[in-house]
Amino acid sequence: SDRHPRRETFRSFLVSRGGGVAARRFFWCGHFLQNTMTHPATRLDYFLDTYQFTSTATVLEVIPGTEEQKGLVTVVLDQTIFHPQGGGQPSDVGTMKASSGAAFEVTKASLDQAVGIVNHTGTFANDSTFSSGDKVDLEINGVTRAHYARLHSAGHLLDLALVQSGYNFEPSKGYHFPNSPYVEYFGSIPVNERETCKNLVQQKMDELIAADLPTRVRMVPYAQLEDVCFGSLPPNLPKGKPRRVISFGDFPGCMCGGTHVPSTKALKECPITKLKKKGKAFRISYSIKADS
Ligand SMILES: [Zn+2]
Repeated sequence: SDRHPRRETFRSFLVSRGGGVAARRFFWCGHFLQNTMTHPATRLDYFLDTYQFTSTATVLEVIPGTEEQKGLVTVVLDQTIFHPQGGGQPSDVGTMKASSGAAFEVTKASLDQAVGIVNHTGTFANDSTFSSGDKVDLEINGVTRAHYARLHSAGHLLDLALVQSGYNFEPSKGYHFPNSPYVEYFGSIPVNERETCKNLVQQKMDELIAADLPTRVRMVPYAQLEDVCFGSLPPNLPKGKPRRVISFGDFPGCMCGGTHVPSTKALKECPITKLKKKGKAFRISYSIKADS
């Protein structure tokens, strides 16, 4: 088949940012400028360990909820273990607690990509609140984190198995939520080839899982990125910056800011459930076995 340039899969916008990016944040309340705090980029501790479910951090700012946000409050920290929703991977949920007794339930974390700041959105218990400078204990829901890491990593594995099966499509989208996850590509596979393709890719995935390949996560200098990422880079990728790349064993990988399993064996079984033309894209749906 034709070789298409492979764009960054899944996490195009979530690649690592260097620290210290200053952000000027404006929050309007009515006609009055309420807040003009400047913060450095949030240190992303979930990059270091998928299975670190607790940590401590310092509160940089508590931003009151607007009416549009239905009263949801946003907390900004200096560092976080909360993986923000993005790249097709759901947000972590969990709690923050201060020694004052103040407690905050995080229902969603999101990354402000322009400035590298993670916004933790949720509600305080019993009208409590944090002050800037407070030390807080963070705890994410480890069950959902581990499950999301498996779901997301399975997407990477399917991607690799597809290439190993001779289909070098350009990836267009990844969706790694618990309800019918999938990866999508530009291109198509003829209807009468799909069953063969599905069986072949499934066989490759099973082999990769049985081989128990370690997941490699590393910062790759720009000059080596193309080699490491299946031989091509997205044309709009800013040049010169090292990027976080995830791969299995010594196989090529892709730029990613997500959380991953330690090795392919942790994926257990990932049955491909459906191959389907979807608009201009070709969708391959998969599932994972329940956590044991
Ligand atoms: Zn990933």
